[in-house]
Amino acid sequence: MYVVSRQDELGVLRIVLEEQYERHSTQLALLARQARQLPGDRTDLAAASALTAASRQALGDIARALHYLEQGRYGTCEECRGDIPIERLALRPATRFCTTCQPEPHHQGRP
Ligand SMILES: [Zn+2]
Repeated sequence: MYVVSRQDELGVLRIVLEEQYERHSTQLALLARQARQLPGDRTDLAAASALTAASRQALGDIARALHYLEQGRYGTCEECRGDIPIERLALRPATRFCTTCQPEPHHQGRP
């Protein structure tokens, strides 16, 4: 029987978090370049600024999660102090709450 410890699983999530951080950083850079090139279409600008805000928010969340990893308190719900299930962290690595304290607002096409 092969048992993976929670620490091992959290280590894998660090890689996921770092990849997501890279991806959002790249997206922000692309959006910034796009904003300079857009011919002033307000609809596109609004969409781009919404994406930029979302990416900035995500970067902040991911940075905090990585910081918590360093401190060894990553994966703990900020509300009830319980362990956040690995399955939830795998879907949303930057989440700060367990499923009980922050139920999904909507269900996206999960298999
Ligand atoms: Zn909780």
